[in-house]
Amino acid sequence: MALGQSSTQRRPEHITRSIPRMLAAQGPSISFEFFPPKDDASEAVLWQAIRRLERVRPSFVSVTYGAGGTTQDRTVRVTERIARETTLTPLAHLTCVNASVAELRQVVGQYAAAGVRSILALRGDPPGNVGGEWVPHPEGLDHAEDLVTLVRGLGDFTVGVAAFPDVHPESPSLEHDVDVLVRKHAAGASFAITQMVFDADSYLRLRDAVAARCDLPITPGLMPVTNVRQIARMSQLMGTPLPPPVVTRLEAVADDPEAVRAVGVEIATELSSRMLSEGAPGLHFITMNRSTATLEVYQNLDLAAAAPRP
Ligand code: FAD
Repeated sequence: MALGQSSTQRRPEHITRSIPRMLAAQGPSISFEFFPPKDDASEAVLWQAIRRLERVRPSFVSVTYGAGGTTQDRTVRVTERIARETTLTPLAHLTCVNASVAELRQVVGQYAAAGVRSILALRGDPPGNVGGEWVPHPEGLDHAEDLVTLVRGLGDFTVGVAAFPDVHPESPSLEHDVDVLVRKHAAGASFAITQMVFDADSYLRLRDAVAARCDLPITPGLMPVTNVRQIARMSQLMGTPLPPPVVTRLEAVADDPEAVRAVGVEIATELSSRMLSEGAPGLHFITMNRSTATLEVYQNLDLAAAAPRP
């Protein structure tokens, strides 16, 4: 039997919900991203956030995937626990970094055994050096597109991919990024999630260019900024500078942590509101394993009334 197919043991309904179907439903799909915690104390913080965010009944939640072996084990463990102990639909991230095809098949098998049916297929970045040269594993895969093909070939999985409104740092142009997304769609991806958006026009430009060529719903990623230093570091890692108006608003209050939070929530609310009004299928919140700022944006947008109920 292919991985991901249901066996005689029936999976709870929430695990097998289709993400593309939730994205196509009326009302925005709301989803949350977490990263695997490093120790017991941060695991407790993560679970507090998961339980608080579970109450708003998101369409799905995703767990990121790191480059090292223990990080990967933690991703599988957290994803498995979400599938087993919550009412949430898990989306498991997976990258090609440092992995042979045989190892990738094994991780997909672990996800399948944990009940995961949706996988975000990514290439990943060179470990320890985000801006460095990408060198594929000698028996591995070179592009996310190849991972989409692999995962789809392994069983009954729904596969999502990454998208970059500000152009991927290694890509020569937006047109090239659009070609890549069309190829990922042809390989079997049925939805995309973007890098965190700080300029709604960039998101809309990419979304429209892809929509002209294929039917791949693209959900914008959003991170309500709560810490100026952290966002500056993340934007450097992403290879994308923050737009000057965003920097100006945050720098004006940089010495006052409460004011930074308030401005961060305000910016995320404005961006979300604009993108939803322009037809974005949903919002994917990068939570940094906390819930308060994300819930504030959620409440500001009055999403409880609008969101589809899975
Ligand atoms: P690809 O689609 O392979 O693209 C990588 C580069 O190759 C791009 O420049 C692209 O233009 C080019 N390219 C792609 N296909 C072709 C082709 N056929 N021919 C020529 N050029 C091509 N990283 C992690 O390590 N763990 C995570 O959990 C994680 N989660 C993420 C979630 C989201 C929503 C996003 C947006 C990113 C995430 N990342 C994660 C980061 C991501 O792995 C990196 O940004 C990586 O550099 C690109 O990944 P990709 O899947 O887009 O790769």
